[in-house]
Amino acid sequence: MTEYPNLLAPLDLGHATLRNRVLMGSMHTGLEETKDWNRVAEFYAARARGGVGLMVTGGMAPNAEGGVFPGAAGLFNDQDIENHRVVTDRVHEAGGLIAMQVLHAGRYAYSPDCVSASAVKSPISPFPPKELDEEGIQKQLNDIATAAARARKAGYDGVEIMGSEGYFINQFLVRHTNKRTDYWGGSYENRMRVAIEAVKRARAAAGDDFIIICRLSMIDLVPDGSTFDEVLQLAREVEKAGASIINTGIGWHEARIPTIATSVPRAAFAWVTKKLMGKVGIPIVTSNRINTPQVAEQVLADGCADMVSMARPLLADADFVAKAEAGRADRIAPCIACNQACLDHTFSGKISTCLVNPRACHETELLIEKTLDPKRVAVVGAGPAGLSAAITAAQRGHDVTLFDKADRIGGQLNMARVIPGKEEFHGLVEWFETMLADHDVETRLGRAVGEEDLKPFDDVVIASGVLPRDPGIPGQDNENVVSYLDVLSGQAQVGARVAIVGAGGIGFDVAEYLTQERPSPTENLTEWMREWGVTDTAEARSGLAPEGPHPEPSPRQVTLLQRKAERPGKRLGKTTGWIHRAALKMKGVEMVSGVNYDRIDDQGLHVSTGEARENTRLINADTVVLCTGQVSERSLADAMADHGVNVHVIGGADVAAELDAKRAINQGTRVAAAL
Ligand code: FAD
Ligand code: NAP
Ligand code: SF4
Repeated sequence: MTEYPNLLAPLDLGHATLRNRVLMGSMHTGLEETKDWNRVAEFYAARARGGVGLMVTGGMAPNAEGGVFPGAAGLFNDQDIENHRVVTDRVHEAGGLIAMQVLHAGRYAYSPDCVSASAVKSPISPFPPKELDEEGIQKQLNDIATAAARARKAGYDGVEIMGSEGYFINQFLVRHTNKRTDYWGGSYENRMRVAIEAVKRARAAAGDDFIIICRLSMIDLVPDGSTFDEVLQLAREVEKAGASIINTGIGWHEARIPTIATSVPRAAFAWVTKKLMGKVGIPIVTSNRINTPQVAEQVLADGCADMVSMARPLLADADFVAKAEAGRADRIAPCIACNQACLDHTFSGKISTCLVNPRACHETELLIEKTLDPKRVAVVGAGPAGLSAAITAAQRGHDVTLFDKADRIGGQLNMARVIPGKEEFHGLVEWFETMLADHDVETRLGRAVGEEDLKPFDDVVIASGVLPRDPGIPGQDNENVVSYLDVLSGQAQVGARVAIVGAGGIGFDVAEYLTQERPSPTENLTEWMREWGVTDTAEARSGLAPEGPHPEPSPRQVTLLQRKAERPGKRLGKTTGWIHRAALKMKGVEMVSGVNYDRIDDQGLHVSTGEARENTRLINADTVVLCTGQVSERSLADAMADHGVNVHVIGGADVAAELDAKRAINQGTRVAAAL
């Protein structure tokens, strides 16, 4: 008897049966643009072998003007069709089903040639779109239908027509972007036409025995979006037009409410999909922040949807479904919703991968193979770099001993996990613990390792991490000065007025920690919705609460400072930095850039600006917290240099600048893959 009866139940679509209720949501990984079709095929085939019910590809442009950027992938000619056949054949051989997403970006296309319902520029694009005339609209619809027909020819089992997230079809649906007064604008009947026609024409072009998923924006989270009644009306119309499945889209890309970041509660939007259940005759898929089989099962058991869409969790672990089926859910590498290696890569023009799984999208290049020459390997430091190295080396058949001077594994992840909104890090540390046991890694905790301890080993991996940087500020030895280590370990008493020196990732996290009473809204959906101003679309158009965001007031008055003159938080994650800035702003945190730190005394922190140290200011503070970056802890690495063993230095011990868990895990995995 499975623990996940709803999740693992097959779904009969008439002409096709899905083996379970897991849909792999569309992700733009950048793989198709590499034109390395073997690599693309291996990415999808790994997920098909891992048991996913139905996969949706990254968005494929129906034409040049609809591509998310110039040169975006699509099925434009016979060669493209042949190339995609490599992918669909490999997926089918692996027992999977795959649908191609047809994505017309409309005004989100990063191109001066972008088109939309009206010439309304998006706040997240520099290009104003051209308003389409009748002929232009017909062309877009016919191109979408042609893309569906070509997808079928390329061996896909279906298409997903992207009608949410603020893309082309969504732009026609709402007055926010559709200012037209003709047949395609004005009344809701008119604004719905592009969505309905797209589905109708795709169905006609691709035939009856073909899956057509229509992804609808169920809560727009931008001004002048849809109401619940409109979403319902549209859902019924797209069903009539020939859709086989309705998928849920949450929020436009330009929405100022987080929808998938780690601070969003798990399954935070399942209630939105649930409102449609029983109101249409085709299966409905829910989405967003569903990252474990337990959460997915609960969502289905609660009647929120017929299927769940998970995208990033299947980057983190291709075998998600297979492990759930085998009763080994604790072995599933958890997606922590950080976006650091997936979406942040996409938006930086890099190929996606995953912070916890560097093999994602690198399946053909990063191979973890059994060794023919087992060695005795010591790994010093059980932070993410050392943990990944130890587990990967053991997986390959080496005899691994992992040391840490702390009495628990995790390294700095143990600080990340106490930050409100970063609760997912608990699961990551627990997963590492499970994997150490699974691979028989001998783990010795609670004693600093010296050179002598390492003599019996063939290879030594040093992952000793970092030490806080000494900023050398006059007065920093004063009693009111503490380090982030003292604060996050709970050892420091922090007063009501706080100055944080350093506005990097850790400075921001410490500010969140000090301005948020526990438990965090990430663990309380009602509280989180109040904080960000999200409500039911039946109560307010778009799901935007009329009273706006309402966070709990901060228990402290916090000032966050940096020396650089740039905007604080500018270097935080590309897709998440704005959330951290907005969250602290809501808590009244003052952010100050371009200062010199002159001295610290009992009154607080004295700062000035410019080389001449003008405009002096006292930041009154009961506590000054130093978050001034980190330097490598290399004492053991340096001492081992002449010992005649193979020493590999990784993670923060190797390079402290711009270190994060993504680099630490990637480096640890790769070093061990080559041992
Ligand atoms: P560490 O995690 O520092 O681990 C080093 C380990 O080595 C420690 O456990 C230490 O005890 C041990 N050690 C040192 N010397 C010895 C010795 N001689 N003998 C035995 N053991 C020894 N990164 C992200 O990617 N995303 C985030 O959201 C994020 N949030 C963060 C939030 C906070 C508050 C902090 C502090 C960090 C955050 N980071 C985040 C950064 C991330 O945690 C680090 O980049 C990562 O942990 C570095 O990994 P590491 O393995 O190199 O070193
Ligand atoms: P960081 O991001 O490099 O920031 C260090 C801060 O200290 C900067 O604001 C810097 O700004 C300041 N600083 C540097 N030298 C200083 C000096 N001598 N005197 C005074 N101020 C100084 O490092 P971090 O905040 O310690 O974070 C460590 C790593 O963990 C980072 O690489 C980060 O990516 C990672 N991390 C990531 C996340 C995440 O969410 N992805 C969260 C936390 C941490 P000025 O030089 O302008 O003053
Ligand atoms: Fe999930 Fe982060 Fe991996 Fe993206 S990089 S899949 S958000 S764990």
